[in-house]
Amino acid sequence: SAKRNGRNHSQRFRPALDVQASPQLGLLNDLRNALAVGGQLELHYQPQYRLADDRLVGLEALLRWRHPRDGMISPGDFIPLAERHGLMSTLGDWVIDQALAQLAHWQRKGLPEAVVWINISAMQLFQGDLETALASGLARHRVPARLLGLELTESVLLDERAGDIAPRLERLRGQGHRVAIDDFGTGYSSLGYLKHLPLDKLKLDRAFIRALPDDRADAAIVCAVLAMAEGLGLEVVAEGVETEPQRDFLLAQGCAEVQGFFYARPQPAARLEAEWQAQASAGSFTQGQRVAEA
Ligand code: C2E
Ligand code: MG
Ligand code: MG
Ligand code: MG
Repeated sequence: SAKRNGRNHSQRFRPALDVQASPQLGLLNDLRNALAVGGQLELHYQPQYRLADDRLVGLEALLRWRHPRDGMISPGDFIPLAERHGLMSTLGDWVIDQALAQLAHWQRKGLPEAVVWINISAMQLFQGDLETALASGLARHRVPARLLGLELTESVLLDERAGDIAPRLERLRGQGHRVAIDDFGTGYSSLGYLKHLPLDKLKLDRAFIRALPDDRADAAIVCAVLAMAEGLGLEVVAEGVETEPQRDFLLAQGCAEVQGFFYARPQPAARLEAEWQAQASAGSFTQGQRVAEA
């Protein structure tokens, strides 16, 4: 039809103009370049601690982009861009490879085992061949799958393609990976999925942690999630723990693990190793030492 032709016509001519006009597309080109040349992207790692004994039991890998002109760019800004423009699978594969290389390095150094959790985007889950990317990475780096955990944000479950997610998660867990629901409680999805999906862990979103322990509604929600998770046989890690009263509340309520600025910020792998090694040889750190290091 004339309408369709008209639209095609305008689409054919717009992108070239947008490349110059839109800062977003400028950034997209920079990201393509960053993936091609290397050296600008890195993973930082934020430790997760078991509250019962203050031991480091996990690390979340968080993508960082050191832009040569603009400095650090937040993943919240460039990941959506990568998703919209078909770069996410390349970026996701880079994260998988990088995290596994780091795990292999830590294994060689003899550090105690801790699960490294990577964030998996909807795009990776529904479009790419995630199982193959993971399996070939594990083989290449000789790392057991149980050490690479997968975080899926809860909103992924609202995706129209999420209908067949259960067998997909089953395959990933069959390979040995652990699976966590990220930002739990903020995705506006029905709780029914907890019954049907094969999951290991919930990451309680920091929106519920921020106002603890004073906010009675948040306290009630957190307690309810902890009770529910226990009933369902799921582990829980609380995100965004920034203060001692928050930590004390979570400990008192039986939350198993915590992650947040009170303990440590995301940081380059090498910086973590000293604390981790010290913990391994001398028992866990005291809070004071840890805060000083963060
Ligand atoms: P997320 O997976 O929920 O990661 C947690 C975010 O909370 C991180 O932000 C972390 O730096 C921040 N955070 C941790 N502790 C605290 C705290 O105590 N207080 C506060 N205010 N914030 C805290 P970051 O690194 O900016 O990452 C933002 C989001 O970008 C992540 O949220 C995740 O959804 C996404 N992302 C990061 N790396 C990757 C990746 O490699 N792949 C994918 N697909 N997404 C990623
Ligand atoms: Mg995450
Ligand atoms: Mg999260
Ligand atoms: Mg979050």
